[in-house]
Order: sequence, then structure tokens, then C-alpha cells
Amino acid sequence: METSRIPGFYNRSVEGRRELLKSMDVFSEEELQGLEAKEGLPTETADKMIENVIGTYPLPLGLGLNFLINGKEYVVPMAIEEPSVVASASHIAKIVRDSGGFTTEATERVMIGQIQVVGCEDFQKAKQVLVNHKTYLLKQANEAYPSIVARGGGAEDLDIRILNEASNSSYQQMLVLHLYINTCDAMGANIINTMVESLAPYIEELTGGKVYLRILSNYADKCLARAKCVIPPDILKTGDFTGEEVRDGVVHAYEFAASDPYRAVTHNKGIMNGIDPIVIATGNDWRAVEAGAHAYASRHGQYSSMTSWSVDQEGNLVGELELPMSVGTVGGSINVHPISKIALRMLNVESAQELAQVIIAVGLAQNLGALKALVTDGIQKGHMALHSRSVAIAAGATGELIDIVSEKLVEAKEIRVGKAKELVEEYTK
Ligand code: NDP
Repeated sequence: METSRIPGFYNRSVEGRRELLKSMDVFSEEELQGLEAKEGLPTETADKMIENVIGTYPLPLGLGLNFLINGKEYVVPMAIEEPSVVASASHIAKIVRDSGGFTTEATERVMIGQIQVVGCEDFQKAKQVLVNHKTYLLKQANEAYPSIVARGGGAEDLDIRILNEASNSSYQQMLVLHLYINTCDAMGANIINTMVESLAPYIEELTGGKVYLRILSNYADKCLARAKCVIPPDILKTGDFTGEEVRDGVVHAYEFAASDPYRAVTHNKGIMNGIDPIVIATGNDWRAVEAGAHAYASRHGQYSSMTSWSVDQEGNLVGELELPMSVGTVGGSINVHPISKIALRMLNVESAQELAQVIIAVGLAQNLGALKALVTDGIQKGHMALHSRSVAIAAGATGELIDIVSEKLVEAKEIRVGKAKELVEEYTK
């Protein structure tokens, strides 16, 4: 698409937004029908995806706008129930695009498979035997999944650690083999698990030990994505706050999160507010991304901020985010869920690496959105105004009454279900 900058998008009706996107070739007529379908995920498809299915659980799907990443325009599908996330992401993306956009990069897509070996008579000797058989083991692993090798991926390397060697407990002593696997455009859990399971008998034979666990690690620290933005202070000006005040507030807020886990958890939750909705919309495994991201935030020994914010020599605000991003554009439920296929088409990404870069940029935007609000008006002003619509619905408002009640709640500065019920009663008398 030519631009992700669509002024007044939020003022249109849902139908108007869809028609506009179709005219912009963001999606096709068929995809439009897929989005309009009452059941975005047909029950019979859901029944094949998990067990004991009784229905489906829909979430709102919104679009993050204004994203300019490495010079390319993106409209970002976001599946989320929390108000103000999509608006905040789009607001910050607009600020960043006015500063030249996000720059991002991603490492090779190398994922880790783990094999746990216990009960070796001599762990050092067992380790050496495995090191000596590295080429053989890599070949065996690749033979277990030849199609990923044909795609240019596969097992590329391995290393071996001994844990708790000095322990008196044989339960604690173990050898752990890490298999490094390039999973190309797949998240790769099944590819990895197949490979590590296939290696187990060879490893038992070579070490004389017993293999227990054979599974991927969600601590995907060799599958990283990075985003950066550089923003001149003048475009950060907000209400009565100067751009410099906002910039300095953001850096102070970052230093708080960098030093205090109580703050860092909430700071990082705000980042995941941007990341999870895209991971969900594209059919990826958000538990895997969450687990890896939080572990990475502790990599220096204390749970800390995922982002960093600083001021450069020209006085610009500089934000950076780096996280493991084990997402795919194929595999798992991605090619099964009709909406994830549409979401990926809308994003127009060519590879899992590119998808990871879009996701990380949105995470950085979301963090700045939250920090900017926190260091200026506070989070409640924007949040509660949007939340008021959900409160109105929870109180029983329908149709036009939703907006009427919601506005009255904001006017009264009382965004509570009790107050909303009173208003619903008053208007439906
Ligand atoms: P799949 O098992 O669906 O494997 C992806 C397949 O896609 C590949 O085997 C490959 O098959 C095909 N493919 C087509 N094009 C490409 C390409 N360009 N690059 C790579 N593969 C391609 O999915 P994953 O292995 O990714 O597994 C992800 C699923 O595993 C998720 O649903 C996740 O929830 C789940 N899971 C997660 C765990 C965890 O996180 N701890 C544990 C277990 C499962 P072919 O080459 O034969 O065409």
C-alpha cells in the first residue's frame, strides 16, 4: 500500500473503514467477506484446532495506522479487548513517522531445542563424546526433518553444558544439549521438537545416560528483533507540556523501570499491549512470545525494562527495543485460522523476519504511548474516555445509547457501571 496514514479513519463506520481499505487494495473482496462473516473462525475449523470445543471467542480486530518502518508503510492488525491501545499505537506511529519512521532489524531465525541427559557415569566424558560427534548429530537431526533443510534451514550447530556437576543429588546432575535450528519462516516448535526427539536414542547410546526432556526453549535469544526511533523534542509537545519536558519525563520513567522490578513489570506489560495483539491477529503463539520476552528482560540478573530511552547529542529522544521474537508466517494455526491469513495479507510481510520487525516496532510505539501519557496528563484521561463505552455496554446500553451514556459518563467524570446503569434507566424510561 502507498500509505498507512489514513486521516479520519476512526470517524468512519466499520463498513466505511472496510470499503476504504478495499479501495486501497489492503484486502480483496473475498477477504472483506471473511472479515464480515459472523463467525470469523468457523466452529468446525475450531473443533479441529483444540479439544472439547463448544464455540469460539471473538476479540475486536483494530488497525494500528501510520506505521512507517524502514521506509515501508504498514497497516497493523491488532486483536485486543483493551481500549486505547490501538489509538495510542497509531498516535505514536504518527509522531515517529514525522521523525523519519522506525528503523528495525532482525537476526537469523535460529531457535533452540534442548535435550536433557541424566545418569551419566562421567559427565565430562559424556560431553566430550557428544562434542566429537557433532557433525554426526547434526546430520541425524536434519535427516529427521529434511523439508526444512530443503528450504535453506535446519540444524546448524550445537553446544553442551553440564549442570550441577558438584551436586550430591543425581536428580540435579545433568547434561544439556542445545541444538540450534534455523526454522526459516516457521515459529518452529514442531520442527524443533521432532529433531530433538529423533536425536534422543543416539545421545543415550553415545553417553550411556538417560534422556528425559526433548523440547524447544522459548527463551529464543538467538531469534531477536530490534527497533529504534529518534524523535526531535518539538514534536513531542503535548498540551501545556513542552517537548523537552515530555522527552525528559520519558527518560525519567525509563530509568524508574530500569531500576525497579515493580515498575518494570507494568512498563513491560504496556509494551506487550502492542506486541500481543499482532501476535494474536497473525495466528502466532503469544504465550511463547510473552515467556521469551519476560525472560529476556531479566538477562542481566534483575528483571528490568525491555526498552531503553535516552537523549542524544542533538537533544532528540532515542528509544530502543530488542526482544526474542519467535513468530512465523507459516505453520501452527497461521494457515488454519481464516482471520490470521487476512491479517498477514494486510501486513504484506514477506518473511517471518519482517513480521518480527513490525511487531517490535509496535511494541516500542506502545511503550512511548504509555510513557508519554503517564508523564503528562496521566493514563486515565484518554483511557477512561475510551473505556466508558465498555462501561456503558456492561450497564446494558445498546445502539445509539452506548455513545450517549459514554459521553455523559465522561462529562460527569464518573466512569462507573453503577452510574451508567442510572443513565441507561433514565434514557430508557
Ligand atoms: P508446523 O509444525 O506447522 O511447521 C511449519 C511447517 O510449515 C514446516 O514444517 C514446513 O513444512 C512448512 N513451511 C512452508 N513454508 C515454510 C517456510 N518458508 N519456512 C518454514 N516452514 C515452512 O509449525 P511450527 O513448527 O512452527 O510449530 C508452531 C506451533 O507449535 C505453534 O502452534 C505453537 O503453538 C506450537 N507449539 C509450541 C510449543 C512451545 O512454544 N513451547 C510447544 C509445542 C507446540 P514443509 O517443509 O514440510 O512444507
